[in-house]
Amino acid sequence: MLNQAQTKWAVEAIMKLYPHARPSLDARTPFQIAVSVLLSAQATDVSVNKVTPILFAAFETPADFAKATPEAVEPYIKSIGLYHNKAKHIVALSQKLVSDFNGEIPHTMAELTSLPGIGRKSASVILGDAFGVPAFAVDTHITRIAKRLRIAKDKDSVLQIEKNITKALPKSEWIDGHHAMIYFGREVCSARQPHCATCPLLKICAHGQAVMDRD
Ligand code: SF4
Repeated sequence: MLNQAQTKWAVEAIMKLYPHARPSLDARTPFQIAVSVLLSAQATDVSVNKVTPILFAAFETPADFAKATPEAVEPYIKSIGLYHNKAKHIVALSQKLVSDFNGEIPHTMAELTSLPGIGRKSASVILGDAFGVPAFAVDTHITRIAKRLRIAKDKDSVLQIEKNITKALPKSEWIDGHHAMIYFGREVCSARQPHCATCPLLKICAHGQAVMDRD
């Protein structure tokens, strides 16, 4: 296992590779970010970005979605996996925003996770990307990288991975670190064919060294 200093070094090395890493969902307002994040569960950001321009032209505000039925939303998101449930969640989330939050996306983890369809990971993305509030969302890329680098153990939960990284990294680096690790997971430490031979973290990565020994 990497200790805190080694974990900080590893994440900061990844951040140096992607100093301009930004959110890849095309969304302008906190509400659009929340809906886009909800749609992105088990779907690619590219596929979400294809449907949201027309979706947000048809339904501009939480009040517009709150008045709609899930069946009215479904045709706009049909190309996205789990669209049936996601349409239900978007309408229910909008209704709760209108009834409990004056139509605005709230700014705290507790309030965000009280919204339909929003779990801890989605809430962390919304906090960071919509409001600049330090939060570290652990997605599938970050889980894989953390386990390969031994920032976490194989059996560790996403919450434990989040704890290990946020303990090691200053709060000011949480949002950028999250984005950089996602880019790194897509482009270098990919699920099927990680580019270990050219990876700057190979020297501290037992998984990468085992891959190289095997090849
Ligand atoms: Fe991922 Fe390979 Fe780099 Fe390790 S050496 S972090 S497995 S790409």
